Amino acid sequence: MFIIFGTRGLKHTVSESPVLSNSCPNCNNGNLENKLYRRWFTLFFIPIIPLDVVDRFYECDSCKSAYNEGIKTVLQRSQEEIKENQKHAKLVFAKALVASMTHMSIIDGDFAKEEEREIMDAIEGFSEIKDDLMVIHQDVKENGNQNNQVFNFLNEARSQLSSEALINILAQAAVVLLADGSIEKEEEDLMKEYLIACGLPKDMYHTLIDKLKRKDMTKIKKEQMN
Ligand SMILES: [Zn+2]
Repeated sequence: MFIIFGTRGLKHTVSESPVLSNSCPNCNNGNLENKLYRRWFTLFFIPIIPLDVVDRFYECDSCKSAYNEGIKTVLQRSQEEIKENQKHAKLVFAKALVASMTHMSIIDGDFAKEEEREIMDAIEGFSEIKDDLMVIHQDVKENGNQNNQVFNFLNEARSQLSSEALINILAQAAVVLLADGSIEKEEEDLMKEYLIACGLPKDMYHTLIDKLKRKDMTKIKKEQMN
């Protein structure tokens, strides 16, 4: 009788290593499992004794793509970067929003209750940076566009946010403009300056105001119906 022995590699899942859920860069929703190839000593082709680990890697349970172990750090870093970027964009958006809303509400020399309520509602929407926004609100309320501060916030927003985000900011500033029921000349001129500062056409002013007025009308109709 003769004995057949040899070695062969077997793939194992590393059970103590957490699965990276829904993070396969190839198919976008596969889970990455930590795997290792271990060489086994075989007797009659049956693995008997585990030998050395040949390779460790991550494998997608859906599309079967394989990645080296560095993928874990890359994924964690990009998650953190995405979170950081979102947080920053939100801050830039909120600062420009509060600065322009406040500026718009004082430009006619009269800070109306309805205007203040719209601004406070906007600030409430950003609970985690509320204190910073209150500081900007107070500063602009007292000093207006001193040192060009309002336009600096708008410029920052223009350089970092999408046009959709900018239109959103100006639409909310326009809500303030309409809040006390009448549009003063200063308010109209200022809104046009904002549009230019945001790199948007000045004519957009009429589109914005028409849209908001129509929305107001439906709101009033709804309130009357209730
Ligand atoms: Zn995959």
